[in-house]
Amino acid sequence: MFKAILIEKDDNGYQAHFTQLNESELPEGDVTIKVEYSSLNYKDGLAITGKGPVVRQFPMVPGIDLVGTVVTSQAAQYQPGDQVLLNGWGVGEKHWGGLAQLARLKSQWLIPLPKNLTPKQTMAIGTAGYTAMLAIIALEKNGVTPEQGRILVTGANGGVGGFAIGLLAKLGYQVTASTGRLAESDYLTELGASEIIDRNELVQAGKPLQKERWAGAIDSVGSHTLANICASIKYGGTVAACGLAQGMDFNSSVAPFILRGVTLAGIDSVMRPYADRVAAWQRLASIVDNHLLNLLSHEITLTQVIPSIDQLMNGQIRGRVIVNVN
Ligand code: NDP
Repeated sequence: MFKAILIEKDDNGYQAHFTQLNESELPEGDVTIKVEYSSLNYKDGLAITGKGPVVRQFPMVPGIDLVGTVVTSQAAQYQPGDQVLLNGWGVGEKHWGGLAQLARLKSQWLIPLPKNLTPKQTMAIGTAGYTAMLAIIALEKNGVTPEQGRILVTGANGGVGGFAIGLLAKLGYQVTASTGRLAESDYLTELGASEIIDRNELVQAGKPLQKERWAGAIDSVGSHTLANICASIKYGGTVAACGLAQGMDFNSSVAPFILRGVTLAGIDSVMRPYADRVAAWQRLASIVDNHLLNLLSHEITLTQVIPSIDQLMNGQIRGRVIVNVN
């Protein structure tokens, strides 16, 4: 038997609960993993509360991130005892995920635990930090350098936003943080933001071209915020779009793209090929330190997941939540 969060949808409605499952109930896969840590992402909140159509089949163990040790393997590249990491691939949506003490997964979804990171550190980073890293790599590939000016990060108190600020600052960029929680300004400054703006400046529909303010941006908010950002990027700059915390809509115009040569770079972490994942995690291992990870994350137990979930969905949690499943 092993402990897990289980989401069920039946005549009694949609509900998530803490339970015990039998190993024989695990889905198919060629690697079985003793999970050490998982984490809570916005998507896990949508899955657990049912507020978004994230879960594709029931019953489902949520958890889009996990780190742990291989127990049994039919895959040549992994042996019992190997430490492995998983982010995405529809795990926690279509296939049982990380909010459990055991997981059975496809070996091609895994990467080896990155060198110089502990299991707990990888879950402090999780999908949010890995996505922030992919967004920064996209800015770099498009030629955005620290000399060109400020980078705007939206959803600053969230997981992706917090990592984007911390990583950009460590790489020498001047960061402007946009937040609805100005009371958290000291925290955002400690992460590395040197300017903080109220997200209300960006949430309403605006003009198609606005004053050129930022050399680049990492946006986890979408909707009018993303349209206003595109309209305010300096000539030749890049916006990395990775989220939809404000909304999935995007009413923009072509003006920033055809008059200022702005690039809108889409960031998907879920289906990202193996080589990109390994490269992003190696980069993370070379940039993060314990000060940043401690500032950005706190740990809870598996039994605390469901009681915490409303806070996550209401935007009341700062940074990242690591889940110790044991
Ligand atoms: P969090 O819940 O940790 O953070 C989201 C942040 O967005 C909040 O902390 C808040 O920041 C801000 N926010 C919330 N509601 C609104 C609103 N109505 N209008 C404007 N801002 C708002 O989520 P994550 O950081 O884990 O994820 C952020 C987004 O990125 C999500 O939409 C998620 O689905 C997406 N994502 C996408 C990935 C990909 O592969 N593309 C991977 C990971 C996440 P503040 O209080 O500072 O304003």
